[in-house]
Amino acid sequence: MTDIKSLTFDALAEILAAEGCESYRTAQVFRWLYKDRVADFSEMTNLSAKLRERLADRFFISRPEILRSQVSSDGETAKLLYGFADGNAVETVLMKYKHGSTVCISTQAGCRMGCRFCASTKRGLKRNLTVSEMLDQIIFTERQFCVKISNVVLMGTGEPLDNFDNVTAFIAMATDERCLGLSVRGISLSTCGLVERIRQLREMRLGLTLSVSLHAPNDEIRRRIMPVAAKYKMSDLLAEVKEYADYTKRRVAIEYTLIKGINDSDENARELASKLRGIMAHVNLIPLNPSKECEWERPSPARMRAFLNALEREHISATVRRELGTDIDAACGQLRLRYDNEKERADA
Ligand code: SF4
Repeated sequence: MTDIKSLTFDALAEILAAEGCESYRTAQVFRWLYKDRVADFSEMTNLSAKLRERLADRFFISRPEILRSQVSSDGETAKLLYGFADGNAVETVLMKYKHGSTVCISTQAGCRMGCRFCASTKRGLKRNLTVSEMLDQIIFTERQFCVKISNVVLMGTGEPLDNFDNVTAFIAMATDERCLGLSVRGISLSTCGLVERIRQLREMRLGLTLSVSLHAPNDEIRRRIMPVAAKYKMSDLLAEVKEYADYTKRRVAIEYTLIKGINDSDENARELASKLRGIMAHVNLIPLNPSKECEWERPSPARMRAFLNALEREHISATVRRELGTDIDAACGQLRLRYDNEKERADA
């Protein structure tokens, strides 16, 4: 059985044409899937009973289970844990802003990148998510909270560029008018810095907004925080970031998690500024999320302000990221990690 939501419009059109269907049938099926969002082929009432049966024999319509749901006390942030048929689970976060709703989706179950501060990588990579599993995080979050999502960030569990083919196929589907119809400018992808994949993304000319997790002002500190830094030199990464920003003519977001005593001094800020000079970039400073899996701490509010001021004195655009939903499991990956631990104990 094929997962029908993993097929592009053209791929489904080809299959239906080979079965002798009229060309307008594909548009009808897509409308049922993505506008009416039906759960079963039997609900596609403008198709003949025979065609509905043939579709049901050949395809299935994916539907993840909502295993956990947490909503912050101010109602602005919600976190969902979606479970898939094979037992894997991923987190999705909804953030409501005045200008619209943004969803942060996962691209892999687990992650193999090993960033030291990240709960999502503690159990390694389980598998890549499929196109429909990424689309479903948007579709079912909209349904659960009765919202229309306008922006998507690929910043949940997983390294999106480590699941390159599925992620780029997902973007094509998400921006297709006949599917979710999102604006490509409303999609941003966050990477820990896989240089050749960023280049490939640029060469595909998709025009996505890019975020790069840098977290350090030099290679030495970066290697302490992110194992991926052993493979890619910061100079190569930043050269590619500059190329990407020049091509999109939009700033690249530089993610920088502030960790007490590791990367938070004024000297670190000045070195970071010197590396970013000449690059269209904006630095998002993120206070480290405390978790029991990580021995590091976040700096004091005064130190974070001092770091920000030091960057601004060097004329680097920067902000400290507003923390959302701190009364729900704020740290990324925590909900999933706890679920996996509980499941493992129950199975034992
Ligand atoms: S921060 Fe992102 S890339 Fe790094 S381990 Fe976590 S999920 Fe993977």
